[in-house]
Amino acid sequence: MSDFPKNHSTPEAISTRLLRDLEASPTPYHAVERASSLLSAAGFTYVGYGDAFPAEPGRYLVLVGGALVAWVQGDSGSSGAPYEKAPDPASDPSQAFTIVGAHTDSPNLRVRSNPDIESAGWGQIGVETYGSLLLNSWLDRDLGLAGRVSVLVNGEPRQVLIRDDRPLLRIPQLAIHLDRDIREKGLKLNPQTQMTPLWSLLSCDSDSSQLSFREYLAGLAGVEAEDILAWDLMAFDTQAPAIVGRDADMISSARIDNLLSTFCAVYALIEAVDNLGPSMPVLVLYDHEEVGSESSTGASGAFLGAILERIGAATGRDRSQHLRDLALSFVVSADGAHATNPNYADKHEPNHHIIMNAGVVVKRNSNQRYASDASSEARFRAACTRAGVPVQTYIHRNDLPCGSTIGPITSGELAVSTVDIGAPQLAMHSIRELAGVSDAQYLTRALVAVWGP
Ligand code: ZN
Repeated sequence: MSDFPKNHSTPEAISTRLLRDLEASPTPYHAVERASSLLSAAGFTYVGYGDAFPAEPGRYLVLVGGALVAWVQGDSGSSGAPYEKAPDPASDPSQAFTIVGAHTDSPNLRVRSNPDIESAGWGQIGVETYGSLLLNSWLDRDLGLAGRVSVLVNGEPRQVLIRDDRPLLRIPQLAIHLDRDIREKGLKLNPQTQMTPLWSLLSCDSDSSQLSFREYLAGLAGVEAEDILAWDLMAFDTQAPAIVGRDADMISSARIDNLLSTFCAVYALIEAVDNLGPSMPVLVLYDHEEVGSESSTGASGAFLGAILERIGAATGRDRSQHLRDLALSFVVSADGAHATNPNYADKHEPNHHIIMNAGVVVKRNSNQRYASDASSEARFRAACTRAGVPVQTYIHRNDLPCGSTIGPITSGELAVSTVDIGAPQLAMHSIRELAGVSDAQYLTRALVAVWGP
C-alpha cells in the first residue's frame, strides 16, 4: 500500500488495517498474497523460490504456497540504520538472524476431491475438517469458498487464486425439537456425517442447481471443467470482521489465530526496516501449524533452515560461519495466547490470568510445549521495555494438556534460542474469535523493538 501511514502503530491505525487484512485473507494463499503486497509496497522485491538468492543489499521476499519469508540484507537506502552496508564476511564477526515467525493457516473445512453429494433432496459439498476446529461454531453460518485451483492452460498446469464471497454454503444445526437431549447432554457433532454443508436444492429447476462442483469451479476460474486438475479450497465465514465492545476496543473476526500475529509482524517489519539493529531481520510465515507443521512449507522440516542457509551462502558466509550465525540468532514465535474467559475462569491457572488489552503475553511451559526459557524471555522482555509495552505471562493448568505452536518446532529445527509470545484472544479455533485492539498495537510495537537497535 503506497498510503502506509507513518503513525501506523496507533491502536486505531492498526485495527483499521488489521480488519482489512483479515478480510482479505480467507486462506493461507490469500494471506501471503496480502502480506507480500504490503511488503512489496515497502520496497521488498520478490525472489523466485528456485532462483539464485541475491548477494546485493536489499529487501527480499520468497513466496511459496501459503508460506512467506522476508528478509533485509545490508540496507536499501534508509538513513541512520546501523545495518547500512553489505556485511564483509572477512571482517564481519557474525551475521546473526533475528527471526519473527507466525502461521497463516487456521482450522476450517476444506473441499474434498469428489465433493458432490445428493441426499434427501439436497445437493451437498463433501468437506474434510482441517485442524482442531470448534465444529459448533461453523453451524448456521453463511459460508463462502476460497483457495487455489490448479488448471491446465496451453497444456501446462497453472495455479489460480479464487474467492467467492457469495454465501454459498450452510451447515444447519438440528432443530431443538428433534434433539431433545441437547440441554442435558450438550452438542456432540460427528465430523463425517453432521458437518456436510448444503449448497443447493435438487428439486429446484434452476440451471445452477444442476451444476457439479467442478463445473461451478470452472465458471469461477474461467476455464473448461475438464481443465480443472486439482484444488486446495476451503470454506470461510462471509461475515466481515468488526470492532466490538462498549468501548470499541475489541476485534471480532475469523482467523485471528494466527493472522493477527501475521499482519502485526508484517507491519512491524515495514516499520522496523528504517531503524534496524545489528542482526539480519527475517520474517517467516509458515503454513500448516494447525495440523502439526510437518510439510514443505511448515515449521517442522527443512523450509526455514534451507532458506537461511541460502541467504548465508548468497552473502558470502561459509557453512561454519553460517552455523555460528545460527548459534547467535534469536527466534520470536508469535501466536495467539489464551485470555481468561470470565465464564470459565476456573479453566485458567489462577496465578496467571491473561487480561485483554493489557499487553503482550510470554508463554511458558516447563514441558517445552512453548520454547520460552529464562534467557529468551529476558531478551524479549528487554525489547518490550524499550518499546514501553506491558508483558503478561501465560502458563497452562497442570490438569489440562497444553497446546503448542511453531516455537518449539522452529527451535528444534534450528537449535536457536526461541521465545513464544502472542496477543491475548478468546474463542481460539472458533469460526469467530475475539482479540484486543490495544494488544495488536502492543504486539506490533514489541516486534519493531525486537528487530530494532
Ligand atoms: Zn495458532
